[in-house]
Parts: sequence; C-alpha cells; structure tokens
Amino acid sequence: MKRRKAIKSIGLGLTAGLWFPSALTSCKKDDPGPEVPYDGVVAIIGAGAAGLYAADILSSKGIKVVILEAGNQLGGRVRSLRNQHEITLQTLADYPVELGTEVVYGINSAWGNIIRNYNLTKIPLAVTATDQFVLDSEARTAADWGTDSDLAAVQDFVANLPTYSGADVSVQQAAGVSTRANALLNSLAANRFGSSADRVGAKGLAEALSLIEHDNTAYLIKTNPLQDIINSRFSGVLGKVKLNTQIKTINYAGEGVILTDQAGNLIEAGKVIVTVPLGVLKSGGISFSPALPAATTSAMNKINMDHCLRLVIDFKRNFWGDSTGYLWGGTEGPAYFNTGVSRSQFYRTLSVTVHGPKAKELSDLGDGMLDAVLAELDAIFDGLATLYIRKILNSDFTEGDRVWFKADWGKDEFFKGGMSYLPPGSSVQDRINFSAPINGKVFFAGEATDSKGDAGTVNGALNSAERVAEEVVLSILFA
Ligand SMILES: Cc1cc2nc3c(=O)[nH]c(=O)nc-3n(C[C@H](O)[C@H](O)[C@H](O)COP(=O)(O)OP(=O)(O)OC[C@H]3O[C@@H](n4cnc5c(N)ncnc54)[C@H](O)[C@@H]3O)c2cc1C
Repeated sequence: MKRRKAIKSIGLGLTAGLWFPSALTSCKKDDPGPEVPYDGVVAIIGAGAAGLYAADILSSKGIKVVILEAGNQLGGRVRSLRNQHEITLQTLADYPVELGTEVVYGINSAWGNIIRNYNLTKIPLAVTATDQFVLDSEARTAADWGTDSDLAAVQDFVANLPTYSGADVSVQQAAGVSTRANALLNSLAANRFGSSADRVGAKGLAEALSLIEHDNTAYLIKTNPLQDIINSRFSGVLGKVKLNTQIKTINYAGEGVILTDQAGNLIEAGKVIVTVPLGVLKSGGISFSPALPAATTSAMNKINMDHCLRLVIDFKRNFWGDSTGYLWGGTEGPAYFNTGVSRSQFYRTLSVTVHGPKAKELSDLGDGMLDAVLAELDAIFDGLATLYIRKILNSDFTEGDRVWFKADWGKDEFFKGGMSYLPPGSSVQDRINFSAPINGKVFFAGEATDSKGDAGTVNGALNSAERVAEEVVLSILFA
C-alpha cells in the first residue's frame, strides 16, 4: 500500500474518477487548451479493459494517446463468442456466451459503475440460480447435501477466507479438508482465483479479499455481450487503437521511449503504459532496454499466471437442472456454468472454466479435452452428457461434429494464461512493487497490478487504469 499513500499525501486522491487541483484543471473560456499540457504522446500497449480505460482518462485530460494492440479485436480477456466472426458454427443459445469474463462482480465496483450507466437487465446469481456441489461423483444442492461435514468444511473455509490469519501456505494446506472434498475446495477457493489449491496462497488471497471495498454481488447481463459493453463504453478512444500491432521491444534509454512492433516498425512516444497480461511479460514477450530494474522483475516473479481454458458445450437437453448456476467440485471441469440461467428458456449450453495445471493437461489433449470433460459429466449424470451433446445435422440428416468451442488462453501468445494470482510467500505489496513507474517513462497497468483486492477481474483492470492515469499525469505535472 506504500505507493497509494504517497500519492494521497500530495493531495491527488481518486474518487469516482480522476480529479486534480482546480488551479491545474480550470480552463478559461477563451483558453480551451488541454487540461494537462503535454507535447508528447503516451503509448498504451494492450486494448483490454485496463488499456482502454487508461486511454479514455488520459484523452479526457487532453493528453494524446495511441493504443497498440497485438490482436485483431478490442477487449482482451473480455471476449464474447458472438463477436468471433470467424466462428461460423454458432451455439443455439439466444443470449451472449462468453469466452473470457462472464460474471460481473459488484454493483458499485469499477465495472459495476460502467454497467450501471447502461440500462441493462442484470441477473444476480445468488437470487436466481442455485449452485450444485459435486462429492463422490454426485451433484446436489447444499440443501440436498444437508449436514455433510466435508461440504460444510469447504464452505466455512471459503466464507472465512477474508479473515484468514494462519500460515503462509497454499489454500490446500491452509484448509486441510478431507481428500473427498479436495476437488470442491479447488473449485471454490482456487480455480475461481486463477489456479489450483496447491498453488494459490491462502494469505495473499485472504489479504486481497479483505481489501475489497465494493459489494461483491455476482451477476450476468441478460442480453448484451460483455465485449460490446467494453466497445461501447470506450468508443471515444477506439479510433486511437492500432490493431494487429504486437510490441516486441521497448527502449527507454533516451528522452522518450521507442517501441518496435512485430514487423520492425518503430513507434516513438514520450511515455509508455504496459498493460499486457503478466504471462506475456514473464515469458519475455516484450524485451526492455535497459533491462527492467531488479525490483520490478523480482516483484513480478512473485506473482503467477497459469494456464487457462474455457470450453463452451452445446447440448440437446438440459440434464443438470434449469435453475442450476454453477456446478462446483469437478476435477476435469472445476467450474461448470449453466450459461442460460434466468436469461433464456434455452438452458442447453454449459461453459467450463479451468485454471492451473489441469488446464494445461487438458490443453495438451487437444480436442481430447472435450472427451475428458464429457466423461466426468457422464460419471455425474449417468451417461447423459455423451447422449445429449448436440451434433451438427448434415444435409443428409445424419449427425456430424459435436458443437463446442474452446478458448485456450494459456496457449495464446497474447495472453499466456488466465488471471494473475499470488502464490504462498507473496502479498499485494508485490503487485504494487511490480507496477512502480520507471524513470517517469515506463508505467504498468492491468489486472495483475491492482492493489485494491480486485486482481484477476475486470474490476482490477479498471482500478489499475485509474491508478496509472494518475501516475502519468503526476509525472507530467511534476516533471
Ligand atoms: C476464462 C476467463 C474467465 C474470467 N472470468 C472473469 C469473470 O467472470 N469476471 C471478471 O471480472 N473477470 C474475469 N476474468 C478476468 C478478466 O477477464 C481480466 O482480469 C481482465 O479482462 C484483464 O484486463 P486487462 O486489461 O488487465 O488485460 P487483457 O484484457 O488481457 O488485455 C491485455 C491486452 O494486451 C494485448 N497484448 C498482449 N501482448 C501484447 C503485445 N506484445 N503488444 C500489444 N498488445 C499485446 C492482448 O492481446 C490484450 O488485448 C476472466 C478471465 C478469463 C481468462
């Protein structure tokens, strides 16, 4: 928390958005110059939530920005199936199906505030859906499990996580639940936060959860793909995005910065904000000259980002229950989600989200990952998954390929994983240290740099954009 305190102490706090001392922000009618005078350009690498929001704030202050995005679309890990035009085969779902972010956390959170400004129907999951929990290959609601002590042990551990004060060990060691409940623990207290229970640190997770100041209501948007909401909210800066521009090097030895893209083109800027996923940075996807300071790399190396996979599978019939929300406790699929819950009468599409070593294992199976997941569902639902998976109907009315989609985030060189998390021995301070600005020229944002307990979410990405925009403005004003 050290850096945030330092900023507050000079009087530039953040509330709903950026504010600055009136002497610096007031413009006379006959002097409509930029709010923050700056001759240079701020280059922003990555057009996910963090990059777009940082660009939006800086632009609104009159600062010139350019956003360099490696991929061919905006939104980063906010990616909706309907927007993937190269996928011609579509699910039958008449509601948006997501390949990345699918749940919004918080009505008064950073992402919640954006959603609130649109008149969109929200589906609060706690009210409209009932989760099921898998133990002994059987799926039941908590009410139906009754007084099962293993389920209770996992639920207690999860409920008490924000106040966990035990040893700095993995979630699995900290919870110490019975072998029978391990997969359930993995689903609820680790996969949900970016990896497996033997890799996520209990203390780091607890610290983050305890820092969250907004309500943490989890909800879906009924009819709008989340990627469309991002595109709409940041429409003011979309013209400043250069797609298909993968930055390979950042040279910050001179007065400004010089970036090189994959085609060898040089882009000159005064400052650069790096918002690429942690996995890209850790795997050397961008090389820095001079090399990043040891303090940056050692903090960065204390934060992890593991493989991640999202599968979307269409069935001919819902065999898991119309009002089911999540199905927790699978081993192949730690989080099965009934994507249509309360959104449609067509409840026939399941999404499967896997983080950590299991995601890598499934990814290595190629299309065999579908069989692994179906086998698990068959074991829970007496063979109904294989029986009911939807298949394309050929022109001669025979059944063709099974209808499913995958987003292999871990394999994608622009992401290299799903979301950042803190392993044992790391703390939120490492996220702060990692994102410390370098020489007033190189800045970091993105969910992995969030210090408000929201890392690993869109909220974290948006929080980091507010923080980095303030840092950039301060570096200009106090140069
Ligand atoms: C499967 C999955 C499910 C999730 N579920 C939820 C959820 O339900 N709720 C929630 O709040 N969050 C969820 N998250 C997390 C959330 O999506 C992310 O935290 C958030 O979108 C990250 O935003 P960002 O701007 O930090 O990074 P990103 O969105 O990853 O944006 C970074 C951008 O940088 C680009 N890039 C990479 N390398 C380069 C380069 N060299 N040059 C130029 N550009 C580059 C990438 O293409 C990308 O567009 C989920 C994530 C995944 C993967």
